Amino acid sequence: MKCFDCSEGRLKRTVAKVPHEIRGLQFEVEDEVLVCSHCGAISVPWDRVDEHGRRVDATYRRLAGILTADQIREARHRLRMSQREFAGYLGVGEASIKRWEAGVLPDKSSSDLIRLKTDPDEARRNYDALCRRLGLRQPERVRSVI
Ligand SMILES: [Zn+2]
Repeated sequence: MKCFDCSEGRLKRTVAKVPHEIRGLQFEVEDEVLVCSHCGAISVPWDRVDEHGRRVDATYRRLAGILTADQIREARHRLRMSQREFAGYLGVGEASIKRWEAGVLPDKSSSDLIRLKTDPDEARRNYDALCRRLGLRQPERVRSVI
């Protein structure tokens, strides 16, 4: 197959690191792709497009610290809330909850809000950091003395 970019080289199927940039974050995702023997252009073959997209999404979320669709749904289920209730609890539109649980990428701030309002450990870390920043004494943690 001839290269789509230079039409000089031939495309060879091989495993390579494909560069991506999402919201200013640059990263690479290794995948089986077509590489031009002449100009080095990389293209994702049709039969890899869906899988490559999933890898790109998963890698970006991991690097940027953004919850996955499953993690968002699980967080809501732990609170035993409907999508409507969860939207009200977070102060966002119900459509946003539906989109995020369907796989649309939330903003970092929305993802952080979900962590903060659904994960007690995350809320505690935020509380501790806030107290330190404000120079407030933190109440003694309850310790069980046996
Ligand atoms: Zn080429």
